[in-house]
Amino acid sequence: QGSHKYSGMVEDCCCEYETVDHLNEEVLHPLLQDLVKTPFFRYFKVKLWCDCPFWPEDGMCRLRDCSVCECTENEFPETFKKPFYHGLSPDNPVCQEGKPEAVVDRTIDAKAFKGWIVIDNPWTNDDETDNDDMTYVNLQLNPERYTGYTGPSARRIWDAIYTENCPKYPSQEFCQEEKILYKLISGLHSSISVHIAADYLLDEATHLWGQNLTLMYDRVLRYPDRVENLYFTFLFVLRAVTKASDYLEQAEYDTGNSVEDLKSQSLVKGLLHNSKLQAACPLPFDEAKLWKGQSGPELKQQIQRQFRNISALMDCVGCEKCRLWGKLQVLGLGTALKILFSVDGQDNLVHTLQLQHNEVIALVNLLNRLSESVKLVHEMGPAVEKAVGVP
Ligand code: FAD
Repeated sequence: QGSHKYSGMVEDCCCEYETVDHLNEEVLHPLLQDLVKTPFFRYFKVKLWCDCPFWPEDGMCRLRDCSVCECTENEFPETFKKPFYHGLSPDNPVCQEGKPEAVVDRTIDAKAFKGWIVIDNPWTNDDETDNDDMTYVNLQLNPERYTGYTGPSARRIWDAIYTENCPKYPSQEFCQEEKILYKLISGLHSSISVHIAADYLLDEATHLWGQNLTLMYDRVLRYPDRVENLYFTFLFVLRAVTKASDYLEQAEYDTGNSVEDLKSQSLVKGLLHNSKLQAACPLPFDEAKLWKGQSGPELKQQIQRQFRNISALMDCVGCEKCRLWGKLQVLGLGTALKILFSVDGQDNLVHTLQLQHNEVIALVNLLNRLSESVKLVHEMGPAVEKAVGVP
């Protein structure tokens, strides 16, 4: 059974499957695709150094496609650089994906984030303070796709996430908030699997890439709850973005390229003030219902701790490109959690909410990844079922 069979309200959300598919196809997906290509949103600051606090690094990445292409000096926005930055070494190595790669630009300067603050996100483990381990990565050169990362290393990360930090809720035993944490992680996991299946190395010898329909079915489509959790996560993150709309609208999108920066600004506006979205799905998720019980504050701290552990686990992902996208997407989820749950006062967030440059980039890129996955699941569903012989 494929995605077209999903109908009615997305569980724990306020929109229907058909509405989500329609809005995504018509409005959100095209808009987000353009937005993530703008310079402001395509560079992500990340510490790719594997600093796993739980197990020794085991280097499980077996394909060259795991390697991340770091930014060349030329393409890197001027405003992200330190003043008096000196050039690169002339003998730049060639990027492992066949594109030119340069020495990593590690000059992370607070001035790069004009109008943006550096403040700890209580939901994540990452230390965002600038230091020499930080790298800027051009996300457009590093698509999330099949990397060959599999086996015990990958398995133990997912196992640790699910068993220790985010157990699958057995029926009614877990409270709503625990259930939501599980669904967010499961939805993200579905999205990662969809991207692996949609961009798969079909033939290593001829380097042929394409869709792996069987994998898409085996990992995601045959489990309705995984598809449902993907839609849930998409709506949850969409709600966070719309809730932060005043803040995001007033933020400075400055990379020194005024034409491109105006484009970022106008696309952000288009996303936040979209009449079709507001008419069809004005409240994608209702966060006001949560943390209401007596143990609310305690529960929030506990779930925050669990999520921080999941964030720390991303440093144990033994494949560089998977680690990049794992860190980005967990930071994006942590940012959505922060917007929805860590700021007091429901309205006027512009005075109380503080986001880092990198959090905004992670949030928008996560929303785009989820939007791509929802579209792929919706579109590929029937073909996948036909290919695997589902009656
Ligand atoms: P896995 O996907 O490893 O799943 C493990 C178990 O989790 C399953 O057996 C099932 O019980 C459960 N499970 C699976 N999906 C869900 C779900 N949606 N909800 C709830 N439970 C579920 N590989 C790449 O090729 N490219 C990448 O970019 C990439 N990024 C990764 C990022 C992270 C953070 C991690 C931990 C791994 C990443 N991997 C990536 C590896 C990939 O996710 C798989 O682990 C790997 O392909 C092996 O898949 P598997 O069939 O063993 O099942």
